[in-house]
Amino acid sequence: MNTDKLSKRLETVAKYIPKNARFADIGSDHAYLPCYTVKRNDVCFAIAGEVVEGPFQSAVKQVKSEGLTSKISVRKGNGLDVIEANEVDCITIAGMGGTLIATILESGKNKLESVQRLVLQPNVSASSIREWLLKNEWALVAEEILEEDGKIYEVLVAEKGDSHSLYETNKTSELLFGPFLMKEKNEAFVKKWTMEKKNWQRILMQLEAAPNSEENSRKRKELHEKIKLVDEVMKQ
Ligand code: SAM
Repeated sequence: MNTDKLSKRLETVAKYIPKNARFADIGSDHAYLPCYTVKRNDVCFAIAGEVVEGPFQSAVKQVKSEGLTSKISVRKGNGLDVIEANEVDCITIAGMGGTLIATILESGKNKLESVQRLVLQPNVSASSIREWLLKNEWALVAEEILEEDGKIYEVLVAEKGDSHSLYETNKTSELLFGPFLMKEKNEAFVKKWTMEKKNWQRILMQLEAAPNSEENSRKRKELHEKIKLVDEVMKQ
């Protein structure tokens, strides 16, 4: 991967950044995504935000070496702290867990006023993001699930608005699997949930062999319910 050719995962994220956007890429690491989009003239201005010194320095070096310092501002800081009010209209957060992404959005809520689109790529726990979006009046407008190098990734795109109508048929399933993804049910989707189910069945067997306790029976019930949800979604 380099700034001319992104991974399939980051290319999917880039695809949803609106043309001529001013965007902030939070947790940018090498700033590949801002460099790629700015070089293609797809966006006019980008912020690469990083909280850790090493990746922050990598982003500074990358942006400098590409001669892009006038269009990409590399900033060190936690989550959305690096953005000034009304500075961007799109935010991308990719390559982290869904819980961390939801925490970053929650802590930076005051920076979201001018933002029209969020493009979020959780490595795990996309449901935490769907729950945050629903609670905070961001409507999912698209979702993708893809496989790259044996790993499966989800990309969630949201815009301001009420998304309760997306979660009307079976809210628990829709939050877990994704309302768009469970309709499309592509190859990566089937692979991901078949693997999850196998993993839950393995844990269930271990719990069944362990001494009985309230905690154990609660966990078993939870796993049975999740396995049932996978069976149901696969049948539909
Ligand atoms: N976004 C890039 C991608 O998708 O390839 C890099 C992903 S990398 C696995 C996650 C990056 O997020 C790390 O460089 C980490 O330092 C940064 N990060 C984690 N928590 C952060 C936070 N609260 N604020 C800013 N950056 C954060």
